[in-house]
Amino acid sequence: ERRIITTEVTAEDKKIEPNLRPQTLAEYIGQEKIRHNLKIYIDAAKARGESLDHVLFYGPPGLGKTTLSGIIANEMGVNMKVTSGPAIEKPGEMAAILNNLQEGDVLFVDEIHRLNRQVEEVLYPAMEDFAIDIMLGKEASARSIRLDLPHFTLVGATTRAGLLTAPLRDRFGVVQKLEFYTPKELSVIVERSASVLGVEIDPKGAQEIARRSRGTPRLANRLLKRVRDFAQVKYDGVITKEVADFALDILDVDKMGLDNNDRNILLLMIEKFGGGPVGLETLAAAMGEDAGTLEDVYEPYLLMNGFINRTPRGRVATELAYRHLDIPIESGK
Ligand code: ADP
Repeated sequence: ERRIITTEVTAEDKKIEPNLRPQTLAEYIGQEKIRHNLKIYIDAAKARGESLDHVLFYGPPGLGKTTLSGIIANEMGVNMKVTSGPAIEKPGEMAAILNNLQEGDVLFVDEIHRLNRQVEEVLYPAMEDFAIDIMLGKEASARSIRLDLPHFTLVGATTRAGLLTAPLRDRFGVVQKLEFYTPKELSVIVERSASVLGVEIDPKGAQEIARRSRGTPRLANRLLKRVRDFAQVKYDGVITKEVADFALDILDVDKMGLDNNDRNILLLMIEKFGGGPVGLETLAAAMGEDAGTLEDVYEPYLLMNGFINRTPRGRVATELAYRHLDIPIESGK
């Protein structure tokens, strides 16, 4: 069965997300610092009649990077073109995308850390001088010509800022890290999404979904949809705390927002590795996951909530992890 807390964007997410995305900075909830900064940069660029500086957003999936990119385009009154690192294989493809932009446009590149080196090199002059260099002819007769591009704003998104090359990173004027949302912020998001979807929800119901969403709006929206189904079929359509509890228990999302996979990571650390310290690679191999995904997707939430600690010798399960799983602490040691 498909896990509800999956890191990938599901087909269903793709269907509902466009409607649930806030369109303006004012509608956007949370990420106070980013919102505050972006407002200043956007107002200043508009006042000067210029395109906005290139922006890099980084942080775990589902926190609002794509949404913010759309908001930037919207606030600047320009179009957004969307692509991703793995989607562009050849330098010529990147050149074509850039060449088709209109003045001021936003080019959103998701998973920008996955651009290959040659494609990335097309971006350097494009970002810096709004130009691309095109090679004509072969060997001895080869020469390069410079093609001017419209002024555009590159918005890059990555879950793995550490994998960005220095020359690429240095070309972003604005670099912003997205943080997990507080349960309170997620509650507001859930209530807003419910009203967009036309579902009735009471505040306690929203809070319960918020609490179990791993600090992540994408999951909050996903859980909201699932809970709505239960509310319709088993109750009278209104999402209360009772419905939320009932549905979320069935969906195996626990009170701390951990799903099976999170709990398995902790269990593995405790049962197989005596609670740690265990190296990232070793743990990832035992899980059958790659180390990068473990580090950037699963770990941040567990770290932030104090279920695991990072030590120089590896990851350690904390007392909280034992308590949460109801395992006596001596048993692992
Ligand atoms: P990312 O690009 O970081 O993976 P997205 O921008 O696609 O994340 O956001 C995932 C979903 O969460 C979207 O459907 C969006 O509507 C919702 N979302 C993200 N941030 C917010 C927010 N601050 N307020 C309301 N909804 C949000």
